[in-house]
Amino acid sequence: MSTSRRDFLSRTALLAAGVAGSAAAQPPEPAHGNNLPVAYSPPKKPVIITRETGDNSVAEAYALLEGGADTLDAALHICQAREDDPNDHSVGLGGLPNEDGIVELDASVMHGPTRRAGSVAALPNIRHAARVAETVMRRTAHVMIVGNNAEQFAVDEGFPKENLLTDDARKIWLLWKEHGIGWWGPGLDSPDWKPPIAAPPGAIPHAALIPRHPTTEHLPAVEARMRYLSERADRMGIPARLRVEAVLQVMWPTTGTIHVSALNTKGELSGATTTSGLAWKIPGRVGDSPIIGAGCYTDQDIGSAGATGNGEENIKVVGAHTIIDQMRQGATPKEAGLEALRRIARNYNNDMTKLRYLDMIYYIVRRDGAYAGVSLWSTRGTGSQKKFVVHDGTLRTEPCDYLFEGNTLSIHPF
Ligand code: ASP
Repeated sequence: MSTSRRDFLSRTALLAAGVAGSAAAQPPEPAHGNNLPVAYSPPKKPVIITRETGDNSVAEAYALLEGGADTLDAALHICQAREDDPNDHSVGLGGLPNEDGIVELDASVMHGPTRRAGSVAALPNIRHAARVAETVMRRTAHVMIVGNNAEQFAVDEGFPKENLLTDDARKIWLLWKEHGIGWWGPGLDSPDWKPPIAAPPGAIPHAALIPRHPTTEHLPAVEARMRYLSERADRMGIPARLRVEAVLQVMWPTTGTIHVSALNTKGELSGATTTSGLAWKIPGRVGDSPIIGAGCYTDQDIGSAGATGNGEENIKVVGAHTIIDQMRQGATPKEAGLEALRRIARNYNNDMTKLRYLDMIYYIVRRDGAYAGVSLWSTRGTGSQKKFVVHDGTLRTEPCDYLFEGNTLSIHPF
């Protein structure tokens, strides 16, 4: 009898005796992700990383963590406060709409302890997008639901339906519709992209040539364009109290979004990101915020990270996941964030003419409580550094570490 036939027969006999069954019940090899080069032990105090909120929600969320609340509930507390604020034009109610005047929200969550994720994209008419993402995670066997079906899902789950376009946001949108620029390319990464051409002296300067955070040399151009838009806003009946804001939003549309990463003393981690996305986006456009691994990523063994800025660029480097993976190899949060930013720069062959049109901030916390806020560009306004918020027992704002010194230009590079 050949060896293979003998093997086959003896295996069959073993199977019949049930012996092979017990061999199959051996514990599996450890999954690849558990082979950690570095193990991070939990911090002595909880840590929250996010952007400036202008409300009490970070302190409240911290108190929730101290009281033993789940890390995702604490993160969602902050998201929800921003989504409820009609004056925050980058999230939830009052978010700036797409080019058709419809507010479409993107959000995602990751819950470290249960290693689960949920997400919604292009969600209309429901303000608490991050909670809907959490509900996708908790109530379904899916990770992501989009568009009108996400709205229907939310309604079925008891979320109230409402028009998210506030009167102020509608007026700003109308001004943009007449005088702003949109997202029809060629995009910055297209071979057909050309830097905007300067207007002849005395003409209204092209919006894309005006820095988002201008320095004094740009002030004449900024003033000329602001005056022009302000006159138009006046003619359209936009009230004086809203005029400056409307003009600013048309010239430099809000990038904002809110990402929150939360860590407790058990080492449990969660992350949540919620946004109305880039203002004036093409309907149905989905940014990085609801993409697990781009706008939000949490790994219970390593840390949690999220992003605000040009979503398309972040999707291409899977920013939040890249950061977590760098920390898995032992990088500090700052080094990990800078590496993700370098990959964005590399996608443009480090061409500074183009990179000036991009904006990105990463919010990062490692499982041991080390943290960082890391920005592509150093400053906003006339020299004030980009900032993030940390609460680790003391609530404070800290300057971001950065890859490039200077201000970003308009994020509409056309
Ligand atoms: N990342 C968001 C998006 O691309 C926008 C932002 O952060 O401002 O939709």
